[in-house]
Amino acid sequence: MQTALPYIGRFAPSPSGPLHAGSLVAAMASFLDARAHGGQWLIRIEDLDTPRNVPGVTELILQQLRALGMRWDQDVVYQSRRLSLYQQAFDTLLAAALVYPCGCTRREIADSASRLSPTTDLTEHPYPGTCRLGAPQGRHAYAWRLRVPEIEVCFEDRWLGVQRQEVAQVVGDYVLKRADGIWAYQLAVVVDDGEQKVTDIVRGEDLLTSTARQHLLARLLGLSVPRVLHVPLVLDARGLKLSKQNGAQALDLNEPLAALQQAWRALGFEKLAASNIESFWSLATQIWGQGTERANLHGINHRSYDAR
Ligand code: GLU
Repeated sequence: MQTALPYIGRFAPSPSGPLHAGSLVAAMASFLDARAHGGQWLIRIEDLDTPRNVPGVTELILQQLRALGMRWDQDVVYQSRRLSLYQQAFDTLLAAALVYPCGCTRREIADSASRLSPTTDLTEHPYPGTCRLGAPQGRHAYAWRLRVPEIEVCFEDRWLGVQRQEVAQVVGDYVLKRADGIWAYQLAVVVDDGEQKVTDIVRGEDLLTSTARQHLLARLLGLSVPRVLHVPLVLDARGLKLSKQNGAQALDLNEPLAALQQAWRALGFEKLAASNIESFWSLATQIWGQGTERANLHGINHRSYDAR
């Protein structure tokens, strides 16, 4: 019989802006899930996309988490200091001929995707495989892509239930190393979750469509595949995901309890009878531990997807 691994969860913010009402929901859910399982909660700063990093924001995010009463169990990890791990994983894939260089520009990919499927409005164009057998003559390679096998990835989300995706159809061969030399999020996140022995990923639903890609890559690298739970997104008045890019306001930390109650309600729970942040966390952990069925998701933007 296999013994269950000790629970390790993580929150992995990118330092492109301070925490806002939407990112707090993801931080809260991962923190509560770790506490309710008596597990560890790690912080990983995803600062590989250097052009998007905002100076001083990492410290601000950590301060915000502390002010909200959230404590982590190991030293904070910075992706920018772990480049050799990503290189090693990449070398393993290269040795197995699972990656290839690609000389296509974004525009070319978009054009050929709309030629292949002219009636579909694709927000993310599946890569048509142009450079799979070698980049066209005279092109220098821009990015490195994973040779995606034709299999359906199926996994159970702890909140949303069974999910399926045929990555080769929906996404195609995806980028692991960008044309600007930066390691892609998809590679770094899988390597880190593996190396940090993360057993449970709890994060926002916007990343649900990345999960199949990550499971596939974890398997190719011989890493164990973490359980996942994706929580509802907070939308703004226009129905768009609240995000740093859409100009979401940083959290007001003059009223930490109010910010916590708001995030808790965004997860579909009733306001808690808590008079301070300590009692908030203790009540919230108890309720979270009883299962997400306790949440009333009526009217909340929470959807499942079956992207084939
Ligand atoms: N760094 C990602 C973000 O800030 C989250 C990555 C993850 O949780 O897998 O959206």
